[in-house]
Amino acid sequence: MIFEFLASNTLAFVLCVLVLGLLVGSFLNVLIYRLPVMMQRQWRAQAREFLELPVDSNGAPFNLLLPHSRCPHCNHRIRAWENVPLASWLALRGKCSACKAPISKRYPLVELACGVLSGYIAWHFGFTWQAGAMLLLTWGLLAMSMIDVDHQLLPDSLVLPLLWLGLIVNSFSLFASLEDALWGAVAGYLSLWSVYWLFKLVTGKEGMGYGDFKLLAMLGAWGGWQVLPLTILLSSVVGAVLGTIMLRMQKAESSTPIPFGPYLAIAGWIALLWGEQLTASYLQFARF
Ligand SMILES: [Zn+2]
Repeated sequence: MIFEFLASNTLAFVLCVLVLGLLVGSFLNVLIYRLPVMMQRQWRAQAREFLELPVDSNGAPFNLLLPHSRCPHCNHRIRAWENVPLASWLALRGKCSACKAPISKRYPLVELACGVLSGYIAWHFGFTWQAGAMLLLTWGLLAMSMIDVDHQLLPDSLVLPLLWLGLIVNSFSLFASLEDALWGAVAGYLSLWSVYWLFKLVTGKEGMGYGDFKLLAMLGAWGGWQVLPLTILLSSVVGAVLGTIMLRMQKAESSTPIPFGPYLAIAGWIALLWGEQLTASYLQFARF
């Protein structure tokens, strides 16, 4: 059986998951681009309905499968061989095969990141249920981080199902007990919710969005409440590191707000994978 082979051969399992990750990364590129457009279309339709305006009759379907991907410059339809993760971009040298317009480096980078992170999870957890669950979480976090970077938006349609999934996997105690997971979700939401209102009452500004509360609730549901302090601590470290890198790269003062979601996502992912080791080594360090 193929499962027995993968369970007994770590290298084969890691390679299989890496290739799977590349393919999923290719799908995530579609999701990252199309989901916000689909949400905006839905909001517009709902607003028109509420205002009793006539229905927008632009009936062309737009979802995750349709229309087929096309070059935004020349409308050339992307054929199957041009859609192989990573390999196609390299073979085409980052240019459209028809009009030679450059294709963003972001597409192969998202595919590569998805493949490498997936492969790492296969190696970290081995052939286990934890690996399977953690792959779903990782793909979700990658997609929502990129959407947050693009639109300052964490879609409920990604965050909330993953919050429920965290509680479900922990009903089998995959990462935490169900009780810890439940309180993790509650405490995750309430902690950022209180920071938000405190900040708003003191400064009159909004420092983060409701999506961030839901995202931390989701991470609490996966790792239990124990994972929350480390996640918040790490998110500021990640923010400082990435913020410095981005300032160096852009040189000029960047006025675009950097959303909090990706920092939380990266910090939560690290805390879930290495939380116990990090806390242990920190406590050891703090004793001296
Ligand atoms: Zn083209």
